[in-house]
Amino acid sequence: MSKPKKHFVDWLRDAHAMEEQAATMLRAQANRLEHYPMLKKRIEQHLEETERQADTVEAILERLGSGTSGTKDMTAKLSALMQGVGGMLTGDEVVKGALASYAFEHMEIASYRILIAAANELGDGEAASALEGILQEEVAMADWLRDNLDHVTTTYLKREAAGATAKV
Ligand code: MG
Ligand code: FE
Repeated sequence: MSKPKKHFVDWLRDAHAMEEQAATMLRAQANRLEHYPMLKKRIEQHLEETERQADTVEAILERLGSGTSGTKDMTAKLSALMQGVGGMLTGDEVVKGALASYAFEHMEIASYRILIAAANELGDGEAASALEGILQEEVAMADWLRDNLDHVTTTYLKREAAGATAKV
């Protein structure tokens, strides 16, 4: 296998692990949220997208004659990162979760921009267009979070000030 193709495969495997981590994170958030219906709905939508993205990346790997196994490094790194910024189970977890999600989407955006460049360099237009589709979903989620971080934060602060017992 050529060096560029080897990198492409490695980076695709990292992306697959990243999507599995994303699905775990989104599922946990969606299950816990009760009082932020718009956020919950958007997270559930992105969870469905994320599951499809993992399948799309896996299909590219299979077409290239490679699998997804044996790449827990990136997942482990991401888990550490998300634990660091995630702050789950703290009182303000909805705010910390939104922060972590916004950061995570940008890591995904960077990953897919890199993968698209590599796919184009390898002349793999089929992979490039599939990855471009994923990129657009990540950008849309990042934009939604950008536009809703204020609302999530002020809702949290108001609910807390009003003595709401359920935090999320
Ligand atoms: Mg994704
Ligand atoms: Fe995403």
